[in-house]
Amino acid sequence: MSGEESQLSAEQRREALKEVFAQAQGCVRCAELAATRKTVVFGAGNADADLMFVGEAPGASEDEQGLPFVGAAGKLLEKLLGEIGMARADVFIANTLKCRPPGNRDPQQVEIENCREYLYRQVELIQPRVICTLGNFATKLLRDDPTGITRLHGQPEVLEVGRRAVRLYPIFHPAAALYTPRMLQTLREDFSRLPELLAQPAPEQPQWLEVPEVVEEPEEPPVTGGPGAGAEPVAEVDQLGLF
Ligand code: URA
Repeated sequence: MSGEESQLSAEQRREALKEVFAQAQGCVRCAELAATRKTVVFGAGNADADLMFVGEAPGASEDEQGLPFVGAAGKLLEKLLGEIGMARADVFIANTLKCRPPGNRDPQQVEIENCREYLYRQVELIQPRVICTLGNFATKLLRDDPTGITRLHGQPEVLEVGRRAVRLYPIFHPAAALYTPRMLQTLREDFSRLPELLAQPAPEQPQWLEVPEVVEEPEEPPVTGGPGAGAEPVAEVDQLGLF
């Protein structure tokens, strides 16, 4: 994110987000996931949200529908949001991985790394004040640290995600609370602090130096395999109406 990009209007940032969405649709960085997925679950919600949730990875229902958190865990997430006076449309919901790991296996480290740049771009363009990580995978990724959610839940901290300073707020994954009343109680308590976190001033943003634009053509062909590799421009992204 250049200094210039941070000045973009909400509409310009939304348009840029749609370009990242279109790139992700054709991503083949993780050969197994690209071969087995039905859809790329980019994320959905308000592209100018103050609050962003980051879960683990799409499951079967999400893979079918191309939308995050549409199964039982998603219903619980919506219920908890309702209890603090918010709706799904107020927030942006994304995942650590954009593709479903086959058989709902855990995301692999290499997959998390492959997908990291999409998440960072989402954060840079949506510019949330608060990012709520749901469970271990998202928390470990965004804190760049192996400390687990049991130790960290309910403790906000300001840190940089990509080039954006945010208040990171780790909480348990709603799937973990579905069948464990005590976990649900903890999740509810942690959720109840979200309005107070959102009311705090936005964290001060780091100053990034402008990188001078390169005008010469590169001699080497561009490296393949980065996010967006193999991306076919998706026509009429607008029609998807995801955000
Ligand atoms: N669990 C997740 O972590 N993400 C989803 O999108 C659905 C369930």
